[in-house]
Amino acid sequence: MIYMGNVSKIYETGAVALSNISVEIKSGEFVFVVGPSGAGKSTFIKLITREELPTNGQIAIGGHNLLSLNPAQVPYYRRQLGIVFQDYRLLPNKTVFENVAFAMEVIEATRSEIMHRVIHVVDLVGLRQKMNRYPQELSGGEQQRVAIARAIVNDPVVLVADEPTGNLDPDTSWEIARILEDINRSGTTIIMASHDKSVVDKLRRRVLAFEKGRLVRDQVRGVYGYEN
Ligand code: ADP
Ligand code: ADP
Repeated sequence: MIYMGNVSKIYETGAVALSNISVEIKSGEFVFVVGPSGAGKSTFIKLITREELPTNGQIAIGGHNLLSLNPAQVPYYRRQLGIVFQDYRLLPNKTVFENVAFAMEVIEATRSEIMHRVIHVVDLVGLRQKMNRYPQELSGGEQQRVAIARAIVNDPVVLVADEPTGNLDPDTSWEIARILEDINRSGTTIIMASHDKSVVDKLRRRVLAFEKGRLVRDQVRGVYGYEN
C-alpha cells in the first residue's frame, strides 16, 4: 500500500528532515508516527500527501509512484487520501453538513449520494444532532470530528492525520482516538503523527519513532517510548 525506499528529505535551508528512510505499510494498518519536535514527523506525513517531494529515494502509494506524478495529477492523487490536521481547517461559513458535503461536491457526486453518505459519516462521528451548526458553535473535539467525517466521506485508501489531538484535552483526545480506531477497524489504513503519549500507549498499534530524521524504532503493538 505504502512503500518508501531510501527516502531522504533535505530542505532548501539545508535542514536534513529525513535520512534514508525505508518503510512499508500494508493496507489496513494503523501506524503512529512519534518523535521529538523536529524529528521529521510532519515531513514524513507531507511526503505521503505529496506536499513535499523527497530529495532522494522512492515513494509509492496505492500503486502511484509519487515521484512521477505531474502537477496536474496531484489533486487527483490527493482525492484518494483523507487528511486531518491539528487545527481542523473547516470552512467557517459552512455548516457541519456543508463542510462534509463539500468534499463530495468536489468529486462531482450526485445530490442523493451526498445526502446519504454525509449523514452516514456525520452519524459515525456522533454529530447527527449538530448537522446544521457552524464550526464556531462547536467545541474543538466536535470540530475535529467534523474534519474526520470530511476526511472519510469519499472512502479514502489512507487516512493521514498530523497531530489530530494536539489541541484537545485528554478525554477529548481519547474520544477522537476511539473514532479513528473504529474507522481503522472498518478497513481504512491510518497514519497518525502524534505527541499524545497516553493515546499511543493505550491503542498499542504499530509505532514508527523518528529522531533527528532517522527511523530509530519500528514496533508492532508499540509504545510512545520517551518522555515529552
Ligand atoms: P516534526 O514534525 O517531527 O516536528 P518536521 O518534519 O516539521 O519535524 O521538521 C524536521 C526538520 O526539518 C526540522 O529541523 C525542521 O526545522 C525542518 N523543516 C521542516 N519543514 C521545513 C521547511 N519547509 N523548510 C525548511 N526546513 C524545514
Ligand atoms: P508541525 O507543528 O505540523 O510540525 P511546524 O511548526 O514544524 O509544523 O511547521 C509549520 C510550517 O512551517 C510547515 O509548513 C513547515 O513545513 C514549515 N517549517 C517548519 N520548520 C521550518 C524551517 N526551519 N524553515 C522553514 N519552514 C519551516
